[in-house]
Amino acid sequence: MNIIMMGAQGTGKGTVAGLLKNELNLPHISTGEIFRKNIQEGTELGKIATKYADEGKLVPDEVTNEMVKNRLAEDDCKNGFILDGYPRNLAQAKELDKILAELNTKVDMVVNLNTPTDEIVERVMARRECPKCKRVYNMILNKPKNGEICDDCGVELTSRVDDTEEKLKIRLDTFHTQTKPVIDYYREHGVVRDEEISISINRFAKEVAEDIVADIKA
Ligand code: ADP
Ligand code: ZN
Repeated sequence: MNIIMMGAQGTGKGTVAGLLKNELNLPHISTGEIFRKNIQEGTELGKIATKYADEGKLVPDEVTNEMVKNRLAEDDCKNGFILDGYPRNLAQAKELDKILAELNTKVDMVVNLNTPTDEIVERVMARRECPKCKRVYNMILNKPKNGEICDDCGVELTSRVDDTEEKLKIRLDTFHTQTKPVIDYYREHGVVRDEEISISINRFAKEVAEDIVADIKA
């Protein structure tokens, strides 16, 4: 089962993907996380990515496609995967089709998460990350037990460098102009599953993931 997570920033793609990973026993591949790890470790890939990611801009397709191609060829992806943060434009979507065709597989499900725009800004500004274990918290949706301290490591949480209002605006613009057409592309292929996820309707990552799992296992 190959699943792709789609949706604007802060909708909870990573959180839903993490829950699906546990239930379906599939690897969760977040391109943003891979870039951040490489940036932190100062690898060659990280040196390229940091110029774009820190500004909220997309890393060039050649670099991103190559990275995804290598990752999907790894052994743990044999029975499927959950891709989070890729593809982000039509060129990447077409490249992914090629990569998967070579692996004799295809996209099975695209989970499209929808959250009201005013809520999105609030959710992203409330996002925090543990600098040590990378666990992601949200000061509105998923608070740590004490203050802004990681439950697992006791380390003080930080915000991502691109989680400022200014950089979020750039990222949301890119989402609307470049990533939305990708959702339409998959819609034409009949694989999109739309999900509302919002405080206003009391629907959270947990419920969304449970419904998806129930349908897959049915
Ligand atoms: P966001 O909340 O903006 O979706 P991500 O964690 O998915 O954040 O990605 C962080 C950054 O990593 C992006 O702003 C971009 O620079 C880079 N990145 C992640 N995925 C891709 C991709 N598919 N194509 C190009 N750049 C990407
Ligand atoms: Zn931690």
